[in-house]
Amino acid sequence: MKILVVEDEHKTGNYLKQGLMEAGFVVDLARDGIDGLHLALTEAFDLVILDVMLPGIDGWQVLQGIRRSGKDIPVLFLTARDDVDDRVKGLELGADDYLVKPFAFSELLARVRTLLRRGGKSKESDVLRAADLELDLLRRRVNRSGKKIDLTSKEFALLELLLRRQGEVLPRSLIASQVWDMNFDSDTNVIEVAIRRLRVKVDDNFEPKLIRTVRGMGYVLETND
Ligand code: CA
Repeated sequence: MKILVVEDEHKTGNYLKQGLMEAGFVVDLARDGIDGLHLALTEAFDLVILDVMLPGIDGWQVLQGIRRSGKDIPVLFLTARDDVDDRVKGLELGADDYLVKPFAFSELLARVRTLLRRGGKSKESDVLRAADLELDLLRRRVNRSGKKIDLTSKEFALLELLLRRQGEVLPRSLIASQVWDMNFDSDTNVIEVAIRRLRVKVDDNFEPKLIRTVRGMGYVLETND
């Protein structure tokens, strides 16, 4: 899942980005409101974490811009003041939750997970499935045929993407941007390597095989039924 962090304070921004990446999210960091709004409107994110006090345009304007565009994406705002008016304003403008600085990272992570779960408006389940494979988004666990499978955070993100779009051939460039937050570079075989590792864990000892290579195109996860 992809999160946009809009935060001008370097230390806080880097800390948030690092922590969220370690928790398995793909993170884009914008250092001011103009960049933040531009990214929020032009790229696909599952959640925005928005500081209120920003140079350029402030967090409220970013939030208004996102809502005016009709985007339904969950927004968590960060405010330095424990001020009722501030919180009310944020929620009235269409934010989904807030945190008062300074906050514990564990608290932020808990809010993020709650919002992401709620964000799947269409009563999307917390568990993604294909055949006997299950990926639990909240507990961040994977099992197949009831056997627990340990994945790295990148492998987890990769499997999550394949499961969310099962039956669809995903080009390497899309996988690169969604899971590694990088542009596809033909010199790197990072995706091939990750797919191979994922297959060893998810497919090698099981039937049917779920992850397929479509030569010259990319990868697809599908059940043959
Ligand atoms: Ca700030």
